[in-house]
Amino acid sequence: MAKDDVLECSFCGRKKPETDLLIAGLDAHICDRCIEQAHGIVMEEIAENKTSNLSSELILKKPREIKEFIDQYMIGQVDAKRVMAVAVYNHYKRLLQPVSKDEDDIDIEKSNIIIVGETGTGKTLIARTIARMLNVPFCIVDATVLTEAGYVGEDVETILTRLLQAADYDVAKAEKGIVFIDEIDKIARKGDNPSITRDVSGEGVQQALLKLLEGSVVNVPPKGGRKHPDQKFIEVNTKNILFIAGGAFSGIDKVIGKRLNRQAVGYSASIKIDKVDESNLLKYIIPKDLKEFGLIPEIIGRLPVLTHMDPLDADTLRAILTEPKNSIIKQYQKLFKMDGIDFSISENALLYIVDKAVEYKLGARGLRSLCEAILTDAMFDLPGSDESILIVDKKYAENKINKSTIKKLKAVG
Ligand code: ADP
Repeated sequence: MAKDDVLECSFCGRKKPETDLLIAGLDAHICDRCIEQAHGIVMEEIAENKTSNLSSELILKKPREIKEFIDQYMIGQVDAKRVMAVAVYNHYKRLLQPVSKDEDDIDIEKSNIIIVGETGTGKTLIARTIARMLNVPFCIVDATVLTEAGYVGEDVETILTRLLQAADYDVAKAEKGIVFIDEIDKIARKGDNPSITRDVSGEGVQQALLKLLEGSVVNVPPKGGRKHPDQKFIEVNTKNILFIAGGAFSGIDKVIGKRLNRQAVGYSASIKIDKVDESNLLKYIIPKDLKEFGLIPEIIGRLPVLTHMDPLDADTLRAILTEPKNSIIKQYQKLFKMDGIDFSISENALLYIVDKAVEYKLGARGLRSLCEAILTDAMFDLPGSDESILIVDKKYAENKINKSTIKKLKAVG
C-alpha cells in the first residue's frame, strides 16, 4: 500500500482519493471541502461581530488625553479644547455603552457642538483632529450650498452621502462618524421678521437640518445630488453621528456687547463691565446671542454645546508656524528633504511672515499662502540642481513677498 493512500482529512476523515485537494499542516491534514466550510463559518462570524469590532476600532480617550492629543496639532484655544474634549468624550461614552434594559431610565442625549470663531482660527482643524484621534469617518459640508428640498442646491440628506463616502459605504461605521457643518451662520434667518416669501437658504434649511441633528433614520442618496433619480436610497440612522457646526457669525460681537452692557446696567449684573475683555467678546457668548443672530431656537437646542475660538494673536501665529506636529514649516522641510535639500528658516523670517499675516488680516490661513509665495521659486529651481541647502532669512522672505501677487490680497483683507 502506498503511503499516500492512508492520508486522510483530520477534520472529516475523508481519504485522500475522495478529496480534490488535501493540504498538509504540521500534524494534520485538511481537505478542500472542510476548507470551504471553515471559510463560511469565518465569514459568518465576522458579519455577526461587525458592530462589536467597530466599537473596538473606536479609540476613546479620557477628556484630558483628548485635549493632549489636540494640543499636538493645535496651538492655544484652551477653552474650546476643554469644552470639546468633554462633549466628545460624553458622546462616545454614551454610544459605546452596552444597551442594558435593567438600568435606570436615564437617557444621555447627544452633545452636538457649535463653535463660533473668526475664519481661520481652527474650527475645522479641531473637528478634523478629533475625528483622526477617534479613527471615525469624518466629512466637511458647507451649509451655504444646502437648500430646502425642491430648490436649486443640495438637499440636507447629501450631508450624509459625504459621510457614507468617507466610511467607504460602511453604514455602521458612518453612523458613528463626525460631520462638520461649516458656515452655519450663513443659514441664519435674515432679519427678525419671518417673511411671507420663503427663505430658501435660511430658515427652511435650518428646519430641514433639525431632523438630522436630533437623530432619525434618513434616506440617503448614495451618489448624492438629484442627478441620479433611480439610485436606491440607503437608510442611515443619525442618532450616534456627532455634528459639529462652525461659523464666523460676523457681527455677533455687537450682539454680545449690547447684552453685556444691558446686564451691567441691570441689577442682576453677572459680569462687571470693567472686567469685560473687549478684545474678545466671543468668550462671553451664550445661546441667546445665536438666536438674536438668526438661528432658530430648535437648532440651538440641538447643538447644546456652545464654544468659541479666540482670535489669533502674533504669538499664536508664530507658534502655529513651527510647533504643531505637522506644522507648515515642518511640512516644507519634509518636501525639501525628499529632494535631498536641507531647508531652514531664521527666526526673523518667521516673525516677518507673522507680521505680514497680521497686516494683511490673513489669519492662520494666510501663513501658508505667505510661505508658498516665499518658497515657490526655490521649490521650482532647487530639485535637480546641485544645491542641497536652503536658508531663508528675513531679506530673502521680504524679496519674495515684494515680488509676489500676495500683496494684492491686502486690499481684500
Ligand atoms: P476655520 O475652520 O476656523 O476657518 P481652519 O481650521 O480651516 O479654520 O484653519 C485654517 C488653517 O490654519 C489650517 O491650516 C489650520 O491648520 C491652521 N490653524 C488655525 N488655527 C490653528 C491653531 N490654533 N493651531 C494650529 N494651526 C491652526
